[in-house]
Formats: sequence, C-alpha cells, structure tokens
Amino acid sequence: MTDRSLETVTILGATGSIGRQTLDVLARNPERYRVLGLTAGHRWRELAEHCLTWRPRFAALADEQAAEALRNHLREAGSHTQVLAGHAGVAEVAALQEADTVVAAIVGAAGVRPTLAAVEAGKKILLANKETLVVTGALFMEAVKRHGATLLPVDSEHNAIFQCLPADGVGPGVRRLLLTASGGPFRGWTREQLTAVTPEQAVCHPNWDMGPKISVDSATLMNKGLEYIEACWLFDVAPERIDVVIHPQSVVHSMVEYLDGSVLAQMGTPDMRTPIACALSWPERIESGASRLDFATLSSLDFQAPDNDAFPCLGLARQAMEEGGAATAVLNAANEEAVAAFLDRRLGFNAIGAVVEETLQRTPSSRCADVDAVMDVDARARDLARSLIREWAC
Ligand code: NAD
Ligand code: MG
Repeated sequence: MTDRSLETVTILGATGSIGRQTLDVLARNPERYRVLGLTAGHRWRELAEHCLTWRPRFAALADEQAAEALRNHLREAGSHTQVLAGHAGVAEVAALQEADTVVAAIVGAAGVRPTLAAVEAGKKILLANKETLVVTGALFMEAVKRHGATLLPVDSEHNAIFQCLPADGVGPGVRRLLLTASGGPFRGWTREQLTAVTPEQAVCHPNWDMGPKISVDSATLMNKGLEYIEACWLFDVAPERIDVVIHPQSVVHSMVEYLDGSVLAQMGTPDMRTPIACALSWPERIESGASRLDFATLSSLDFQAPDNDAFPCLGLARQAMEEGGAATAVLNAANEEAVAAFLDRRLGFNAIGAVVEETLQRTPSSRCADVDAVMDVDARARDLARSLIREWAC
C-alpha cells in the first residue's frame, strides 16, 4: 500500500553528494515525501544500499552491466524495486508519470537528456545539475515553459537569489544580482604557485563537501563561471547585471541589489541541505538538518574582487555567454574533459583554463536548433579538447 498524500520524489544522481544529501533531508521529513525512483551512473553497490533502505519502485543505472549486477543483487535480497538499464532507462525513470518532483543531480552534460526528459514530463524539477543549463540554455528554458514544468534552483547561490527576489522574478526594480564565491582552496595564490597543484589539494574545498568535478571547478573558479551562465538563464537577466564577489566564509550565499540601494542577502551555514530543503518544500519550510548560524561566534564576513589573472576560467565563461549560441556548450565540454584529465594526472591545473580557451577559440560559433545539434557540438568540442590534452599532457 502506498500513501497517495505523500509527495513522490525521484533522484537522478542518487549516489552523489547532492543525491545523498537529498536523501538525508527526505529522511528527516518522512511524513511529507516518498522516494519513487533512484538513478546513478555505474556504482551499483551504493545504489543497492539506497534501494534497500528506501524501497523505490524504480531504479536505473546508466551502465548496463552495473544495472544487471544491481538487478541480481536486489532480487536475491527480496527487493521489489524494478531496475532499468542504460541511458534510456535513466531517462525513463526521470519521466515516470507518478513522480511529483525530480531532483536533477547528475554531474556534467550527462544530465542533459534525463533532466530534459523530466522537463518534458512537466515535473517539478529541483535543479542542481548546472551543466544542463550551461549546455542547452535557451532550449532548456523554452522546454520548461512549453511543458509547464516548474524549475527550482538547488545550487546554493541561485537558491539564495531565488529567495531574495520578488515572486515574479527580476523586474525593473532589481539593479543587479551578486553571486558570491568562496574563492576555493587556492584563494590568494599566484599563477606560479598554482602550477604544481595536485588533484588531492584541488578537491579539498575549505567550506563545502562536494563531488570531485565541482570541487575542481570551485578551485579554478569555473564553477562560478558556470553559475554565472546558469543565473543568466534561470533569472532571465542580461549578463551585465550579474557580478561576482569573493566571500571566503560562504555564509552569504548570494545577494540581490535593488534600484533604491537595498541589498538582500540569504545567509546560513554552508550546507547544501538548506537549499535542497528549501526547493523541496517551497513555499513552505521544513527541517534540513543544517546547523544554525551562530552570530555570536561568527567573527567576520569578508568580501573582495576575484583575481581574474590567476583564475581565468570565470572570464572565459563570461566571454562564452556574451558570444552566445553554442559557445557555452563548447566551454562546458572542454572543461569537463580538462577536469577529468587533471583528476587523472594527465594535465596540469593551469592547463585546464588553457584547454578551455583554445577549444573556444578554435570552434566557430554556431546556433543550434535543437538538443541533438547541441550534443553534436558537445561531442566535437570534446574531441578537440582531448587532442589538446594529449598535446599538452604533463
Ligand atoms: P557527484 O559526482 O558526487 O555525483 C554525481 C552523480 O551523477 C552520481 O550519482 C553519479 O552516479 C551520477 N552520474 C554520473 N555520470 C552519470 C551518467 N553518465 N548517467 C547517469 N548518472 C550519472 O556530483 P555532485 O557533487 O553531487 O554534483 C551533482 C551536480 O550538482 C553537479 O552538476 C554539480 O555542479 C551540482 N552541484 C553540486 C553541489 C554539491 O555541493 N555537491 C552544489 C551545487 C551544485
Ligand atoms: Mg554553487
């Protein structure tokens, strides 16, 4: 027997940092939510654990062999979860008719098709997978409108801005959006100091515990570049109305400045369960498990301008957004390849930005009529980035 009064939730990327934190928030609110579907890439053992705990009706793994292993394991454990396989299986679970809410928490452009499948099914989408917006931009926002989907930002900065904006979004009273950035583990380092940075140092973020790819993006400031593009699309604002400010404590999660000089900020401890809980229950509020901000022990809040010389990725993202068309898809594809190579010790830290810049320069700008065309651009940009990575291998 299932309780139809509970909100049904599907999580795409259930084994990741956002996926696990979403499950933690759901566990704190069992009277409101029921897990319907869980998906992941290939880690079947972790997904099996979640399936045995949460008993979703459906699970899916993008990797077909891993899906087979999960299916056998769950059958032996007496589980009734139905396991789907491959990219089509993940997209099918993303679009289940019975789902009310879909948490889009796959990392990278791999999230594009499943997230769009959820949009096309008209779901309430809790968007963590920023790369989907960076890659598909206008096409994604049009699909949201066309299919009557609801989009709620999970990325902490965008969730903060969402909370600080009027209900009807960015109107004439808003002067600009201020995205805060922690500056990552290498804030204050020079370009020379950054040459010898290791993957271990780069994934060790001072304030947030995140997956490896976004942790490297935070270290290069590409994360803020992707978020800048994400903000343009999500809030329908011109790029020149968004500024980035470094704020090392990650207590102010972002701000909105109004014409009269008022600046509204959303604050809290750096814990992704806050924006996840906010998006899940909006416009109501629920417990998230995040610790409370203690103003008595908060010593200071600092703000400074980003160092664009040591960290060129933010500027590259701005440039790609201004160029428009598929440039942001090229930026994202090159970055994903460069970050993977860096994590694999095949590329130096400073070369990440260089690969992105060169890939952007060598790719003629193009407009894409549909998602298939964007994914072709993505594939070509990856080929080019991979050949540059081979050339510049460390
Ligand atoms: P992660 O690496 O911890 O988890 C990624 C998830 O995606 C895993 O469940 C993995 O199995 C799944 N996945 C990977 N490749 C897949 C594929 N080809 N098909 C299907 N599933 C696949 O990543 P994360 O840190 O949780 O980040 C997820 C997304 O949320 C990213 O877009 C990131 O930028 C965004 N985000 C994360 C945080 C954070 O604190 N972790 C904060 C803001 C935004
Ligand atoms: Mg963020």
